[in-house]
Amino acid sequence: MIPYYSLKQITESFEPEITQTATDIIRSGWYLQGKANDTFEKAFAAYCGTDYCVGTGNGMDAITLILMGYQSLGLMSEEDEVIVPANTCIATIIGILRARMKPVLCEPILETCNIDPAKIEALITPRTKVILPVHLYGQCADMEPITTIARKHGLKVVEDCAQAHGAIYRGKRAGNLGDAAAFSFYPSKNLGALGDGGGVTTNDGSLAGRVRALGNYGSSAKYVHDYKGINSRLDELQAGILSVKLTRLDEDNEKRRKVAERYRKGITNPQIRVLPCAERESNVYHIFPVFTPERDRLQAYLTAKGIQTLIHYPIPPHQQKALSEYADLSLPVTEKIHREELSLPMSPLLTTEEIEQIIDAVNRFV
Ligand SMILES: *Cc1c(COP(=O)(O)O)cnc(C)c1O
Repeated sequence: MIPYYSLKQITESFEPEITQTATDIIRSGWYLQGKANDTFEKAFAAYCGTDYCVGTGNGMDAITLILMGYQSLGLMSEEDEVIVPANTCIATIIGILRARMKPVLCEPILETCNIDPAKIEALITPRTKVILPVHLYGQCADMEPITTIARKHGLKVVEDCAQAHGAIYRGKRAGNLGDAAAFSFYPSKNLGALGDGGGVTTNDGSLAGRVRALGNYGSSAKYVHDYKGINSRLDELQAGILSVKLTRLDEDNEKRRKVAERYRKGITNPQIRVLPCAERESNVYHIFPVFTPERDRLQAYLTAKGIQTLIHYPIPPHQQKALSEYADLSLPVTEKIHREELSLPMSPLLTTEEIEQIIDAVNRFV
């Protein structure tokens, strides 16, 4: 079986450094808000090109904490609206709801699966405060028109970078393309911990300070609480492991690009649609999606051929029971993506033989 993504193999490829780092931290006797967190935050901010990085417990909390931070700075309030692509991972939308704000769902562009800038302005109301693009599948959203619209209407741009660690859009890294950005370090992300983890990057010092305080019960100094915060911190073990893995992120992303280039050249089955290649470095291929109305049949066929695939995602957020208040929306582009998407195996460790085997199988699908 060719696995979709073998975390076991990935972790092994970082040995012995990962175990050594974990052992050092275990023996240090210090497990939260210490040196490892500090070192990782500085390294990741420098990597993204931002002034600040604040570790959080996970990616969804990072989204919530950015919005809570802006509220606490008096720049927006509960019930204000956040424009977000309708075809995102549901965590993006729940993250907004937990900050007691209102997600307004925007259709994506079919050819990129990212938020359609041409459809944003029609959704802006006097309560709109944020545009929240998601760099889905590792491909940067088209930030230039999004930023222009945001400036014109006085809105903040908050990036969801959970799938785009290291992507570069017009010379700048994801995480440094808006006013603030949320990262997830969920194990299978391009930069993944061995448990939960997340982070916020920004060049805004006052926002960074609020996010740090709000993620630590609203504490500005030990036992002094200025805000009603939550508990969402990146722990020392995960921070140490992430520092090890960060050193190989660019190299691994380049390997993912090579896999994607092989797929794109090799897949010639007219029934299967692949996304066109954008600016090369703007995509870190967290996911390599293919599209066909025969998606379920293609998945069963590939499974029978020993190739594991996943679907990102089978049910669009507005059709989930948890978001029943959105059930009446009609979002044809979003719905088509969710009906037709299938994710092929994608990993920096895929071998040439495995890639060829996958391409051959996809091309023989009838
Ligand atoms: C993974 C993911 C999240 C959530 O991250 P967690 O760390 O699991 O909370 C949010 N948005 C997108 C686009 C994701 O892929």
